[in-house]
Amino acid sequence: MNIILLGPPGAGKGTQARRLVEERGMIQLSTGDMLREARTSGTEMGSKVAEVMDRGDLVTDEIVIGLIEERLEAEHAGGFIFDGFPRTLAQADALEELLERHGEALDAVIEMQVDDEALVARITGRATCASCGEVFNDATRPIPEDGKCPSCGGTEFIRRADDNEESLRQRLMEYYKKTSPLIGYYYCKGKLRSVNGLAGIDEVAAQISAVLD
Ligand code: AMP
Repeated sequence: MNIILLGPPGAGKGTQARRLVEERGMIQLSTGDMLREARTSGTEMGSKVAEVMDRGDLVTDEIVIGLIEERLEAEHAGGFIFDGFPRTLAQADALEELLERHGEALDAVIEMQVDDEALVARITGRATCASCGEVFNDATRPIPEDGKCPSCGGTEFIRRADDNEESLRQRLMEYYKKTSPLIGYYYCKGKLRSVNGLAGIDEVAAQISAVLD
């Protein structure tokens, strides 16, 4: 089964994708994670990507489509979760073509609905465990006082350079201008399913499971 998790930054796509990986053996393809890896590569492309990401703009379609194309070769018995991709109509068309070329199809697009004020609060206090990706939040789920991740015991936590209010506003603007048209696009294709991204993590996971089952 191949699915897309669609929603604005901070909607909880990464958190839910990690659960699906654990529970269903799916493979998470996060273009954001791939690009964060690319920016540390020390190449000219890496530093260009870093600039664009820190501003909160979208990286070019060509770059992200290339990244996804490379990953589609991987073993994927449990199916792919596209997390943060596609983000434009051109990317959505390219994905359809790539999947078709690999004899695959898209089964569902799960839209995670949230409101903007909740996103600002979630994102500006966000930190993630460097080893397992568990997400914390200064206001709602602070890093434990002993400084250890409860999931894996890791002691290093990362705050993203683009998780500040100014970049977030720009990321939201990009989402509404370029990504939200995908909601109508997938609705027309009969693939869209919506869940309430403001519910607790377990409740959202249950809603997603219900869609997949
Ligand atoms: P994310 O981790 O998904 O929030 O992505 C972080 C940043 O990476 C975004 O704000 C964009 O700058 C870039 N990015 C991630 N995925 C894409 C994509 N599919 N298309 C263009 N830019 C992307």
